[in-house]
Amino acid sequence: MEYEIKCPKCGRSSARILDSKCSCGSPLETHLHFNFEKKNILKRKYSLWRYVSFFPYVNKKEIVSLGEGWTPLIKFSDNLYFKLDNLNPTGSFKDRGSTVLISAVHKPLKRAGGYISEDSSGNAGASIAAYAARAGLKAEIYVPESVSGPKLSQIKFYGAEVVKVSGSRCRVAEEAQKSEKRKFYVGHILHPLFRDGIRSVAYELAEEFGWRLPDLIYLPVSAGTLLLGVIKGFRHLEKSGLIDIFPEIIACQTRQVSPLYHRFKGLSYTQPKRITSIADALVSVDPPLLDLMIKNLKEADGNTVIVEEEEIFNAFTKLARKGFFIEPSSAVAYAAYEKQLETKEISKNDKAVIVLTGNGLKSKLRPTLRINA
Ligand SMILES: [Zn+2]
Repeated sequence: MEYEIKCPKCGRSSARILDSKCSCGSPLETHLHFNFEKKNILKRKYSLWRYVSFFPYVNKKEIVSLGEGWTPLIKFSDNLYFKLDNLNPTGSFKDRGSTVLISAVHKPLKRAGGYISEDSSGNAGASIAAYAARAGLKAEIYVPESVSGPKLSQIKFYGAEVVKVSGSRCRVAEEAQKSEKRKFYVGHILHPLFRDGIRSVAYELAEEFGWRLPDLIYLPVSAGTLLLGVIKGFRHLEKSGLIDIFPEIIACQTRQVSPLYHRFKGLSYTQPKRITSIADALVSVDPPLLDLMIKNLKEADGNTVIVEEEEIFNAFTKLARKGFFIEPSSAVAYAAYEKQLETKEISKNDKAVIVLTGNGLKSKLRPTLRINA
């Protein structure tokens, strides 16, 4: 058996690729029972699918691709690098999860005459909508009533049906999961294959850095798919004997939305009444994968940092003025890097990489009076 999809809570394995949860209610996890072997990289394929052998549940002939992954690695300053995942087809790293998930499920879904349902406030909804369109699948994207702006337009232009739900973010997820005839919930947060697609970031970084990873890796963290996916990818490389040193993973959050930070540091967290942060892709105040995130970040000997609104805005502006137009949510990771430099937790000699997760055109921010950097 090359892989297994199992429940981390009750240990039951799931045979159905369309399941996003265990029957006990817990999220599922994929387990890989093979090594990463360099010779199996398709070196002349310049997308995530150069790693097709490492996603054994995807049939090579059934890949649904828009040219995602294999994003550039750029040297920003002496020891700081950016991984430009904002350059993915729909403008966010989520395309890694969507291409893997939709490639694996589109045939069985079509055989069942089904359509997909997903809940998202933005980037993941747009990404799933795009890959569903590419696969010729109908998609229903459940969004909070308050959602507006470029991401909502993007979802609609891809042809997905948008269902607005009033109330909290949890209510949106509930509605999306409500069973209806022929509806298959493939929520990006819960479905194990979406998360599994994200491990490609780790493979790419290892290849791009010549298999000698930097000391520090900064990731913005909300629902946890990026964090869990990246850790899993590095673990796989480590187990396969391809990397000696596991980089320090720094999970970056906003003060408003920082359940991971607080739990990790043993502090109590109070959810904000309303999220007003400019980092509007980071909204998971009560992420269903929090336990998994804490466990993985601890085992990986990682760390976590929170940043203030002003720090995010300054980081966003600073990057834009160097030519990097990214979502404020991605600037959270750069703000965290700068903060750790300032507090001397790290030094300029530490080699670091920041994953830039989303395109600046997705932001609702307008260049008004606040720009004075
Ligand atoms: Zn279970």
